[in-house]
Amino acid sequence: FEHSSMTSIIAIPAFNDNYIWTIRRGGDAAVVDPGDAAPVQEYLARERLALTAIITTHHHADHVGGNKALLERHAVPVFAPAREQIPGATTMLTEGDRVDVPGVEVTLHVLDVPGHTAGHIAYVGDVDGPVLFCGDTLFAAGCGRLFEGTAADMWSSLGKFARLDPATRVYCAHEYTLANLRFAAVAELSNGAIAVRIDAGTRKRTRNMPTLPSTIALELATNPFLRAGEPNVRKAAESHAGTALARPVDVFAALREWKNSFRG
Ligand code: ZN
Ligand code: FE
Repeated sequence: FEHSSMTSIIAIPAFNDNYIWTIRRGGDAAVVDPGDAAPVQEYLARERLALTAIITTHHHADHVGGNKALLERHAVPVFAPAREQIPGATTMLTEGDRVDVPGVEVTLHVLDVPGHTAGHIAYVGDVDGPVLFCGDTLFAAGCGRLFEGTAADMWSSLGKFARLDPATRVYCAHEYTLANLRFAAVAELSNGAIAVRIDAGTRKRTRNMPTLPSTIALELATNPFLRAGEPNVRKAAESHAGTALARPVDVFAALREWKNSFRG
């Protein structure tokens, strides 16, 4: 039995549509947002890997629900947002902090990205190219719901992602891509890149493959929540809201409201 000395990122599916992203190198593995311990334990056993760290983006149960059970079996650090209560947290993080993830030889940099939750953080690093672990802030062709933040908070958080290297691979925590694209196609009727992405995504889901990771470039081209400054997106949002929307943040807020009630 041989382990690869390359660092790679794989998806452990959990619940209906969560992905527990797992960074592995040699015999070591670190998990991002383990909402459920069982599929992680199963994967570690099958691949003969030792858990070296738990990395957390925000406090929701589908992201931290597995921490306690994993910590009973593995004494590992839990990297966590400083402003939230995370089970087993050992290292409290805010924007500008740096994490050297044990075992897997990856360094992550922390961004504060409030909106979905008030203390939500994201991690940027390099694993064979730039990568982003964004939890429930940015989704493929979508974004998280505003449970604890304002539209202005989320717009500013998404702006941080928009300024990353376009080649950055985006590891979102949920498989929401096709539903999000159905909304994107209505929010920006003239965007041919959305239709192309629906075809590619449908082929993957038909074979039960993740549509993720995405890239920042692809999000900038197809995600209506990053495209609130585009005239056609503004027009669609204005016509749905029945009012003029002066600034991109107003367009964003109207899109988020619209999506909440959208049944594609
Ligand atoms: Zn969440
Ligand atoms: Fe979630």
